Amino acid sequence: MKKKKCPVCGALFVSDEFKPFCSKRCADVDLSRWLKGGYSIPGRPADQADEVPGRPDPSDA
Ligand SMILES: [Zn+2]
Repeated sequence: MKKKKCPVCGALFVSDEFKPFCSKRCADVDLSRWLKGGYSIPGRPADQADEVPGRPDPSDA
């Protein structure tokens, strides 16, 4: 088995389930980063508060 390195937390892992991340949580982290960093869609009214309260992740193994 090949080990991969999670781009979010840097952990080595072998699971392909959430690739390229080690876990759902890291996939979520990357997604939210991507969404926040790439908010450049023109013509979209900023009528929604971009505030999402941090939710606890029960799947923390
Ligand atoms: Zn990770």
